[in-house]
Amino acid sequence: MSELRRESPYPMVPIEEAHRLIMARAVPLGVEEIDALASEGRVLAETVVSPDDIPDVPKAAMDGYALRAADGVGQRRVVAEVTAGVEPGLVIGPGEAARIMTGAPMPAGADAMIPVELTREHAGVLTVERALRSGDYVHTVGQDVARGAIVLQAGSMLGAADVGLLATLGRTRVRVYRRPVVAVLATGDEIVEPGASRAPGAVRDSNRYALMAAAREAGCTTISLGIARDDYNAQRDAILAGLARADVLITSGGVSMGTRDLIKPILAELGTVHFGRIAFKPGKPTTFATVGDKLVFGVPGYPVSSLVSFEVFVRPALRALQGDERPHRPRVQVTLAGALRPSPDRPEYQRAEVRWEDGRLMARVTGGQGSSRLLSMRGANALLLVPPGEEPYPAGAELDALLTGPLAA
Ligand code: AMP
Ligand code: MG
Repeated sequence: MSELRRESPYPMVPIEEAHRLIMARAVPLGVEEIDALASEGRVLAETVVSPDDIPDVPKAAMDGYALRAADGVGQRRVVAEVTAGVEPGLVIGPGEAARIMTGAPMPAGADAMIPVELTREHAGVLTVERALRSGDYVHTVGQDVARGAIVLQAGSMLGAADVGLLATLGRTRVRVYRRPVVAVLATGDEIVEPGASRAPGAVRDSNRYALMAAAREAGCTTISLGIARDDYNAQRDAILAGLARADVLITSGGVSMGTRDLIKPILAELGTVHFGRIAFKPGKPTTFATVGDKLVFGVPGYPVSSLVSFEVFVRPALRALQGDERPHRPRVQVTLAGALRPSPDRPEYQRAEVRWEDGRLMARVTGGQGSSRLLSMRGANALLLVPPGEEPYPAGAELDALLTGPLAA
């Protein structure tokens, strides 16, 4: 039987240093060409410039009449009807107007239009009672997108509007960054599959499934490596199998000071451990290593530590690996709705629900903040950055927070 160690051989690094060590190694993995019309959620790897003016010809912005503004108020002869998608093929002369539908090309000669609700028409004669200026209600060439303009920037994440823009520009293929493949391994002799029968004291594997879900939410594809026993060779084999198939490996558990905490020595044997402890709560033993060009994160076994460490340290790396130029969650200032107690010695990320109330962002901590109480993550849309100290922060105090989800309604 080996003895329990009293001191970790790994120095405790500050959070900023941990981020620096990780982000220096999280460089985009590569680029692929995909269907532009289903590219939402991907990060753009090219700058998209418009090849055309949109619209390419002047068009009616509303249903009404195309006419010559210089004719002034008074009557017009209605000489034609112009509909969308049809080349008008006529010239509007002085004293004339054409019925025109939204989106139809303006006929030659007409330099303005008047919406139907501002007019009267009787027996082919239109009455215009309002003075118009040249260009009124006309959708001009390049008004929506000018030819040669930058429409989408490389490094930005594509959403529904961007898919619409790509379609507008006639782009059916687009270059995006490759999604990272993330393998997740659970460790522990007490850990069992959620669907398996459970001996007294056994713990259902929540971390592997929560971490895979979080990695997919961060835009990655995932591989499950199952549960490895607390045995050096079993964990080493599982880690090697994961590294062979994935860009990033996340292990859960086995990074603390117990005699069965084997992840750090295995990673030190296979590659380089960049840090093995962070001045951070919850998740002090979080470990970061590289094996070749693969990134490995060892997050602690307690479910809250595991997910908060993912959120704070792993997620930004996964975003940077897929080219996201803004890999970090938005950071905002919030007001505490109730008092909270900081950790005496380490910065702590407390789970909170943030909502817009009376003109400011109010934060409420989501119940007990114990590392095993996964329910504290439920309903949380923010991580409060609580600096260490002896005194509680009173209600009304202001702290920074990372927004991890939409504001509470
Ligand atoms: P460890 O970091 O391996 O010392 O584990 C710390 C605590 O987290 C122990 O109570 C474990 O039972 C629990 N734990 C470890 N792995 C998991 C997991 N995959 N899912 C849920 N709880 C876990
Ligand atoms: Mg363990």
